[in-house]
Amino acid sequence: MMKKNSKPFEIILFGPPVSGKGTQAKLLATVLNIPHISAGHLLRLAEEDKSNPYHKQISDLIDNGQLVPSEIVNQMVKKRLAKTDCVKGYVLDGYPRTFDQVAVLEQIAGIDYVFLIDVSDKIVKARITGRRICQNNHQWNLQSSPPRVRGICDICGGKISIRKDDSLDKIKKRLKIYHEHVNPIIKYYKKQKKLITINGDQHIEDVFQDIVKYIIGEIRK
Ligand SMILES: [Zn+2]
Repeated sequence: MMKKNSKPFEIILFGPPVSGKGTQAKLLATVLNIPHISAGHLLRLAEEDKSNPYHKQISDLIDNGQLVPSEIVNQMVKKRLAKTDCVKGYVLDGYPRTFDQVAVLEQIAGIDYVFLIDVSDKIVKARITGRRICQNNHQWNLQSSPPRVRGICDICGGKISIRKDDSLDKIKKRLKIYHEHVNPIIKYYKKQKKLITINGDQHIEDVFQDIVKYIIGEIRK
């Protein structure tokens, strides 16, 4: 793979819920000194920005738990990628989610790496069902960061319980949506020989090391 382009780090990150995708994207962007561009964050900014022409529409859609139409997302991403801080590249997170978004990206970008942080459904379910929260929004995880006293928040002493959104039914639904949307796109990038699958069942730091090792290996080629 030739890596002599002027924008060497146009990167996409894919991963299921609780794969740590957002954290990895942030870390990677910091290390490479490029922006982390999260579609979800762009939508929240547009939602809060009353001067944005889509502000009301986006806000209504999000309130109703609906997906924001691709045209709007495409416009926001296009505008963001045109900013000067993207001269060396960027880490895209939460985009593309549909094939017309892929098509837009083909026009405006030359994607160099597509990472998939691969976490099995079984582990996603275990991670989510282990999450606990207290009434003051302090978060715990029975698997990865349990409180010292069982059932009690270390910080405020309040009782911890499972979040409503974390029921097994809801997790199954979220995973189904993820697979429906993302699997075909992942297949597409695999065909393009751009997909790099990273074992996401590991600890956050090991996942990150694997990503960085891959990029360094490519740069040295
Ligand atoms: Zn607490």
